[in-house]
Amino acid sequence: AARESSAPILPGATLGVMGGGQLGRMFVHEAQRMGYATAVLDPDPDSPAGHVSHHHIPAGYADVDGLARLAGLADAITTEFENVPAPSLQHLAVARPVSPGAAAVAIAQDRIREKAHFTRCGVSCAPHAVLQEAADLANVDEDLLPGILKTARLGYDGKGQQRVRTRDELAAAWQAAGGVACVLEKMLPLDFECSVIVARGRDGLMVHLPPQRNLHRDGILAVTEVHEYSMPADVAEQATAAARSIAEGLEYVGVLCVEFFVLMGGTLVVNEMAPRPHNSGHWSMDASDVSQFELQVRTLAGLPLTQPRQHSPAIMLNLLGDLWFPDGDTPREPPWADVLALPGVHLHLYGKAEARRGRKMGHLNVTGADIDAVRGTADFAAALLG
Ligand code: ADP
Ligand code: MG
Repeated sequence: AARESSAPILPGATLGVMGGGQLGRMFVHEAQRMGYATAVLDPDPDSPAGHVSHHHIPAGYADVDGLARLAGLADAITTEFENVPAPSLQHLAVARPVSPGAAAVAIAQDRIREKAHFTRCGVSCAPHAVLQEAADLANVDEDLLPGILKTARLGYDGKGQQRVRTRDELAAAWQAAGGVACVLEKMLPLDFECSVIVARGRDGLMVHLPPQRNLHRDGILAVTEVHEYSMPADVAEQATAAARSIAEGLEYVGVLCVEFFVLMGGTLVVNEMAPRPHNSGHWSMDASDVSQFELQVRTLAGLPLTQPRQHSPAIMLNLLGDLWFPDGDTPREPPWADVLALPGVHLHLYGKAEARRGRKMGHLNVTGADIDAVRGTADFAAALLG
């Protein structure tokens, strides 16, 4: 039977994670720092988290034997990505505490259900239409064009998205997407993007990290800034309140990241959510007394949550595989020694053997006494990296 929720799972126990990517790796590192052993389930024998975990189970996410092994090793289980099959989480939850729960993950992995949940929580999202079948194309409101067609499931880093200007382009794009369930979102005039990470315990207590201002390039997160001047105070307050109500509405347990658009004129619109730590929260590893991964450990283990305190302004630069290819197809290692000569630079590399364009290889956190110092260092580092 599932363990009762009251007693925390203390250091010395084993924490499990579905998925062996960089988010799993950073969870493993944090769990180990706090004295836990770890178990990772990932089909890839060579995964970033598998490399550093006490146990690695090389099995598929729906493999019943693999799931049984994970439940046998781990005292509680979390996930590092939203596309883990919800039935697998349900299955694991029979034996062990699992957070976030299958129901919340099932909503987060489907843009249609996700938007319905946001609306239920009273948080506005972009004007959109749901496309389930060809007949729905004819009913699309002209006002949604130009727009972005997004597959309801399995999109990330801008993948699964097509920009469309006309009805004809929309029909062609939907065909190209294979006629699967999609949403068409109106293209909005963005001033900037931001996100908020909340953590909610089994007792319903919630804490959050300060809102993060995010810059995307080609649909992939490039830079996150977190400091006093990164956005107007009323936007920060609204985003925080919205993220908390979205987590509350899910009766969420774990770490949740909610992404927002801030429109020209200041209106806040929710974009999407991730039922896990998020790339935009990586700054917290070096500039907050409690990182998003410690929050994941604490919520999973049922440990107390305390409100994190940011102790430095922060800028995070994502390190994509493109940095390994400054000229042509022959990869080179970026000039780490030069970058690390700058004060307040914290290098995180995910241990991926092969650099590829668009692949997340690591990130650089920059901290300092004030935002001017941090920005100066971040600009310098970016220039060195090319
Ligand atoms: P993903 O799952 O790939 O992160 P998103 O829905 O977050 O997908 O879209 C990726 C990026 O594309 C966003 O961060 C934003 O920069 C841009 N974008 C997405 N939807 C819209 C929109 N409706 N209007 C304007 N820009 C958008
Ligand atoms: Mg996104």
